[in-house]
Amino acid sequence: MSDDCIFCQIIAGEIPSRTVYEDDDVFAFLDVNPMSRGHTLVIPKDHAQRIEELPEDQRAAVFTTLGKLAPAVEAAVDADGVNIGMNDGEAAGQEVMHTHGHIIPRFEGDGGGAVHSIVQTYPELSDEEFDEVAAAIREAQ
Ligand code: 5GP
Ligand code: ZN
Repeated sequence: MSDDCIFCQIIAGEIPSRTVYEDDDVFAFLDVNPMSRGHTLVIPKDHAQRIEELPEDQRAAVFTTLGKLAPAVEAAVDADGVNIGMNDGEAAGQEVMHTHGHIIPRFEGDGGGAVHSIVQTYPELSDEEFDEVAAAIREAQ
């Protein structure tokens, strides 16, 4: 537990939340400032800022829970679909530095966009640049 972390305090019950799921590794609750009805957060019980810092079994548990809860959230609020996403790192919009996944119910006509609307300008890459990027990612693992 990280003492100054809001999400650790939620897990510990020191800050109230509307819990929707809990097991040994994972905790899920309603976002207090929902982007849509049913907006749910899924977090690991152990504190980690970024997804890469989580041990692999807990990372798996978070993603398993996202997959399990997404249809339940969708059904509960009678949504037409969901976006599942993570803001991983400050540059990506992460505000609470305890890694978490969002389940955001979507409704036809809600005016929202796809994950492709996260950035405003797309880069134009040559074939060589695509190759370089792919090689760099293979190298970085
Ligand atoms: P981020 O931008 O870090 O991916 O998203 C953090 C999310 O946590 C935001 O959607 C915000 O509304 C939510 N949040 C922040 N503080 C609290 C809180 O105290 N309780 C709950 N339930 N959600 C919170
Ligand atoms: Zn924490």
